[in-house]
Amino acid sequence: MKRKARTIRNTVFAAVCCAAVLLSGQPSMIKPLVSHADTQSDLAQKIKDADDKIKELEQKIAQAGTDIESNKELQDNYWEKLVTTQNKIDLVNLSVADKEQEIIDKEAEIAAVELRISDTEASIADKEMQIEMLDKQNKENIERFGKIMHAMYITDSDDYLSIIAGSADFYDIFVRSEIMKSVNEQNLNFMHQLMSDIEKLEQDEKDLEDAKKNLEYDKITLESEKDDLLDEKTALDEEKKYYNDLNTSYWDEYNTYAVKIQDLESRQANLQYEKKVTQADREKAEKALEEEIRRAQEAAKHNTVYDTGEWAWPVSPSFTLITTYFGYDAWRSGNHGGIDIGNSGMMGANIYASKGGEVIVAKTTYIPGYDYGMYVVIDHGNGYQTLYAHCSAIYVSVGQVVNKGDCIAAVGSTGWATGPHLHFEVRKDGGRIDPLGVVPMPQ
Ligand SMILES: [Zn+2]
Repeated sequence: MKRKARTIRNTVFAAVCCAAVLLSGQPSMIKPLVSHADTQSDLAQKIKDADDKIKELEQKIAQAGTDIESNKELQDNYWEKLVTTQNKIDLVNLSVADKEQEIIDKEAEIAAVELRISDTEASIADKEMQIEMLDKQNKENIERFGKIMHAMYITDSDDYLSIIAGSADFYDIFVRSEIMKSVNEQNLNFMHQLMSDIEKLEQDEKDLEDAKKNLEYDKITLESEKDDLLDEKTALDEEKKYYNDLNTSYWDEYNTYAVKIQDLESRQANLQYEKKVTQADREKAEKALEEEIRRAQEAAKHNTVYDTGEWAWPVSPSFTLITTYFGYDAWRSGNHGGIDIGNSGMMGANIYASKGGEVIVAKTTYIPGYDYGMYVVIDHGNGYQTLYAHCSAIYVSVGQVVNKGDCIAAVGSTGWATGPHLHFEVRKDGGRIDPLGVVPMPQ
């Protein structure tokens, strides 16, 4: 029974198609009407956020710059202090060097004086030795003289001897005594000579001792001067240490600022990088927005209502045989997205724009046996589009604005069609609706 019905349909409605039934869901060739408003406001918000962030980053970069400058000023202060203290250290170093030279000179003077003292001591020792020798000689002379005296007077010679056995101081008494006047002149002269030699030596020794005392006094003076120099050097060393410590603390401060500046500079560089990235993001968003606006304008163009009048029948009013209606079709086991107008003798007949609008599809290439074949889609605005399929010729091109009733194509059976007919669709907001609910059939 089923099979029979199908045969009948195929025979009676030889013009039946059609491809549309296979295209369930949203057909790809129809431009959907997309609302761009949300995307646009999202992008505008993104740009505004990026602007805010750039502004904030610029403030932070400027702040970092100010901080760097002020830290550099503070660092420069320490540099100046470092230069000042270094100059002082250099001067102190010169003074220390001078002082050290003075100490060396003083030590040389002391050494010279010590040498003179030891020379003097040697001279004194020499004198003492000479005095001792003369003393010895003198004693022998006195003994001999005593013997002469004894021989001469044979009286109390022991008393004289006891006298002269003492120190050389008694020689004076002895020589000046009355007894001596009677002594032989030659012997006396000899004794006088001896005495005067001893006297002279003793004076020399005394002079040498005085000289030694003076030298020792000089040495003490020099040692004290050396001590003063050492004290001065110690003071200079302390001064040097003070400036060195100061210098060290200035260097610490200087380096602390150097670290701070480095941190700030790297922070500033990071902020600048972040700004660059944000600017790139902003540029991207701006381009996307421009594109969205362009697309929206394009879409808005298709929303242009070209024709507010009635819908017209897409073929001659004499062709009103509907071979397949809109909706479920048992024969195809699927939905039929439009109506098939399939009067006999329709091959090459004019197809008219059902309403004014813009041609958005004018497809002249196709694979035989598949799909719509050659077809036209017109956008009428307000979300309406019409589709004319299986054409044998197409007279319009994309972008062309047509008026209601304009001849746009010729009836054919290209694509998946079993015979010449017009497959006619009406779309509302991208979805297919029953054309007979919109386009009145001619009476
Ligand atoms: Zn069809």
